[in-house]
Amino acid sequence: MGSINSSQAKHKEAQSVLHRNLGSYIQHGYAYYRKITDEDNNVDFIYEEVNENYEKLTGLKDVIGRRMTETRPGLSKSNPMFIEKYARVAETGIPDKFEIFLETDNHWYDVSLYSPQEGYVLSMFDDISERKKSEETLKKSEERFRRLFENDSIVILLDPDTGNIIDANHAAAEFYGWSVEQLKQMSIRQITSASSDEVKVNMDKVRTSKQNQFLFRHRRADGSLRDVEVFSNRIELEGKDILYAIIHDVTARILAENQLQKLSVAVEQSPAIVVITDPEGNIEYVNPAFTLVTGYSTEEATGQNPRILKSGLMPPSVYEELWKTILSGNVWYGELQNKKKNGELYWDQAVISAIRNKKNVITNFVAVKVDITEQKKMFAELIAAKQKAEESDRLKSAFLANISHEIRTPMNGILGFAQLLKEPHLTGEEQTDYIDLIQQSGVRMLNLINNLINVSRIEAGEIMLQVSETPVNELLRDLYAFFKPEIDKKGLRLQYTTGLPDSESVIETDSGKLIQILTNLIQNALKFTSSGEIDFGYNRIDGTLEFYVIDSGIGIAPEMKAKIFHRFHQVDNTLTRNQEGSGLGLNISKAYVELLGGTIRVESREGQGSEFYFTLPYRHIFAQNIRIPSPVIQKPVIIAPAITVLIAEDDAVSSLLLKKNLAGENINTIFAVNGVEAIEMVRQYHEIDIVLMDIKMPLMNGYEATRLIKELRPDLPVIIQTAFTSKEERENAKKAGCDGYITKPINKIELHKLMLKLLNR
Ligand code: ADP
Repeated sequence: MGSINSSQAKHKEAQSVLHRNLGSYIQHGYAYYRKITDEDNNVDFIYEEVNENYEKLTGLKDVIGRRMTETRPGLSKSNPMFIEKYARVAETGIPDKFEIFLETDNHWYDVSLYSPQEGYVLSMFDDISERKKSEETLKKSEERFRRLFENDSIVILLDPDTGNIIDANHAAAEFYGWSVEQLKQMSIRQITSASSDEVKVNMDKVRTSKQNQFLFRHRRADGSLRDVEVFSNRIELEGKDILYAIIHDVTARILAENQLQKLSVAVEQSPAIVVITDPEGNIEYVNPAFTLVTGYSTEEATGQNPRILKSGLMPPSVYEELWKTILSGNVWYGELQNKKKNGELYWDQAVISAIRNKKNVITNFVAVKVDITEQKKMFAELIAAKQKAEESDRLKSAFLANISHEIRTPMNGILGFAQLLKEPHLTGEEQTDYIDLIQQSGVRMLNLINNLINVSRIEAGEIMLQVSETPVNELLRDLYAFFKPEIDKKGLRLQYTTGLPDSESVIETDSGKLIQILTNLIQNALKFTSSGEIDFGYNRIDGTLEFYVIDSGIGIAPEMKAKIFHRFHQVDNTLTRNQEGSGLGLNISKAYVELLGGTIRVESREGQGSEFYFTLPYRHIFAQNIRIPSPVIQKPVIIAPAITVLIAEDDAVSSLLLKKNLAGENINTIFAVNGVEAIEMVRQYHEIDIVLMDIKMPLMNGYEATRLIKELRPDLPVIIQTAFTSKEERENAKKAGCDGYITKPINKIELHKLMLKLLNR
């Protein structure tokens, strides 16, 4: 009875609990059963009532009045205790609780059984899937941790407050070189390179989940240091909060990273261009040198194909070859003419190859290139310079041959006709002809020498301009008069045109140089024209006068136009080769034109003629009645009688020539053959009026002699006569005290003029 009473009390208690919580239970699923005992004496339960949630959760429908073993055979059969559990509750009134997983919705349920009345059971369901899941995860992570602790990874467990090592696995013992037992006596501070404070700060970070991953340097038992990556987290183990640390030795990786870092700095700072593309050829990386040379920024280049640099000037075969080489695993070396962002062309010397991974698959292409534009330019310049040197060497040889020819020809004339002159029985006419020919040859030789001297003066920068008022029209008229007879003789026509009225044609320039330029050009025209005419003249074009000399001669080939102004250059063709000339005239003319502030050029058609043009600044002067001395027509000068000239000269021919030049002018000549003798004569013969002094003489040279003569008779005029024509020589002469200077071969008229001037006659 006692048990009946007590079971009644339990049912009552269950009832009150139920009433208190009914509201919340109804939220979940519930079923109300009545216990029966069937004809075979089996216990079963009949559904009295279920709520909607129950139907939903179990997937059972229309269960009222049916038996539990019938609706849920799986449950009751697989678990015979199941019915017993319900029966016990129905009989004793003691509530029960169990967990069940329902396949119908894949959820875990917490089932509570109550019996508010004997023979009845109220079963209530609560969904506990979430809780179950987290329990499951926890279990799993614990398992994982166990596994981790037991496998190869280095793991140590730490006391988060002290940093003492609580435990360590075998991998840790092996790595650090201390036994697990030894490690368990140690603190993490004895292993890490971090300071005590850092250890504490880092452990706090782990505890608060602010940071889990660290890079440290750990020391091992043998004293060696290793770079380690530490992953640390907190874990609750046997109710205690601890830190676990998984340690990876990354020494090799760090070393590789450092290496990589060094390499990448090298690439970044390299003066060579580095371009890396993916296998499709899209640019992945360019270094600063690329930007510097091409003008494309990293952003502009990335994703583009290196094709953006193509100049279109390389033959397609070069690229075909390039791709064939690098795709076959070889390195391509070559030069590419490329284009910068601004369109400028440049030359790259490139080394291009493929990068392959371990599986031998191409992952990238890398190109290392150097801008060799300057080098190429220098190389081209070097070749040009070499060619020029060879050309000038060739020209020099040609010049020497030419000069030798130019000297020999007139020499031949002079010597030949001089010889002939010696023949007896020559008629007077024959004699005059021979002398004329000797004279012509002499003039030709003198011209050559003058040209050579002019070239060396130009070279030495010794050419001085003598600017004076120059009436251009008059100058042209004189040139016309001078050349007319020669032109007539050749059967050509000569014509000149002035571009301004006489009054406006006076300019400020070096008339001597202007005459020489025009003379050179007209002489050339004459030389290279066999029929037709020669025109010369000038036009005013704004601030300049443009002079011209036009002929209808053989003309000049286009490729020779620039060269003919070069020194020693004679156009090497059969027509001109026959003509005399040193190849200096145009070079001198060009130098003179430029000195005078103008330019010279030529236009020509081969076989039809040449047109030479040069300009001079038009600096007009309003002067009247200006005459310059005619360049060619010189009047003889008469010297008044009775003067005595001392000729100091060691060369007998030169002495004789001087004597002859002075003969017939009522001049007495006396001779000295060296400086010492000359001084002696001055001392003895007071009637000497003037001295003609050679420089290069034995015993005492002309300078020294002049100096001493000037000491004896300071007012006795001394004229230095010499074959040397340098500026230095003139200055030396001046220093020695001479009064005049005349160059050999001596021009009779010039000599007389100078003597007259010095004698004040
Ligand atoms: P050269 O003393 O040899 O004439 P230049 O310097 O005056 O030297 O001329 C150089 C070369 O230019 C000549 O040898 C000749 O081949 C060419 N040349 C100059 N002027 C003319 C011209 N009017 N017609 C054709 N060729 C010319």
